[in-house]
Amino acid sequence: MTDSDVTATKARALDAATKVDKKPVRAIGLLSGGLDSMLAHAVIRAQGIEVRAVNFYTGLCIVETQRRLGRRRRDGSIPANEALGAAANLEMEMEFIDISGPDYLHLITHPRYGYGANANPCVDCRIFMFKKAKALMEAWGASFVFTGEVLGQRPKSQRRDTLRIVERDSGLTGRLVRPLSAKLLEPTIPELEGLLDRERLFDFRGRSRASQMALAKELGLTDYPQPAGGCCYLTDESFGRRFHDLMARRPERNLAEEEVLLLAMGRHFRLGEVKLIVARNETESVAFRRFIGGRHAVEAIGVNGPLALVEGAPDEEARRWISAIVARYGQGRVQARVRVEWRDVTGAVELREVAPHDDEAVLASLRI
Ligand code: SF4
Repeated sequence: MTDSDVTATKARALDAATKVDKKPVRAIGLLSGGLDSMLAHAVIRAQGIEVRAVNFYTGLCIVETQRRLGRRRRDGSIPANEALGAAANLEMEMEFIDISGPDYLHLITHPRYGYGANANPCVDCRIFMFKKAKALMEAWGASFVFTGEVLGQRPKSQRRDTLRIVERDSGLTGRLVRPLSAKLLEPTIPELEGLLDRERLFDFRGRSRASQMALAKELGLTDYPQPAGGCCYLTDESFGRRFHDLMARRPERNLAEEEVLLLAMGRHFRLGEVKLIVARNETESVAFRRFIGGRHAVEAIGVNGPLALVEGAPDEEARRWISAIVARYGQGRVQARVRVEWRDVTGAVELREVAPHDDEAVLASLRI
């Protein structure tokens, strides 16, 4: 055997040994279902990294809640879960992790970093989710967690300083990769260790989606939801108003799961310390029946109309107002008088006859 034969044999042995030792690089990806998270997954997987996609269910996803309530879109179709749709388009499995419950409710009512424009504690929410993702990363032997966040896309939660806070407080310092803005951020550990090629990551910034749409086209991703800003009730303006109205009257800031659902449904009116919630359609009336316990239930009888729930202790005047408002939202609105039934918290039943309320300006002033 010549010297060059020996060198070649050693090289082959070394190569084989390296291949045996080389474990696949793994990462946990957060998949919300929006275009950015889809792109992040496609970009990371394109580097040969084994990705486990996870979606955290907070119980406050608008589309998912509507789907569960059996609501239909204008075209009659049933709203689809966007994250599941995204996973299908990416041809990958996705783990659906339910984080709704007391810990998440506590986060919503006591956010360390405050709220965004509405009731959205996005910074705390992300920290909460990323802590869970970190635990999955460690359990699965993954090297990093990644998200579709884009620097500067959201005014508070995606500022450079906030991205750092989220990374630090979730315990993911150096191991939280934002592939779409990576080139604008400090290199992460997987990039420094050569597990992830920084050159194949991106430098997207700001609210414009033009770069993302161009990349989607390049990657052949055509089926993705349009950014409607409707993914989370906490970012919804009317939900936010109702949420803060409730919290302002509750110094202990506790919140039950069913209260969150009620904040998302119906027409809400405030009459002093009494709150009236009128179902907007039959689906909501059916859903409201689950929440009657501890509340007064009011509905018109003899004509079709919504079920309404009353919280608090209405006096005679409030009862008159409420009866008239409930009558106004049923088919009896065109009648001179409507009979309205009250089933009190105590179980007592009372019948009233009222003229349906017809002053839109007054109604609007009572709306929460
Ligand atoms: S919008 Fe904000 S609060 Fe809602 S799920 Fe996303 S990060 Fe959490």
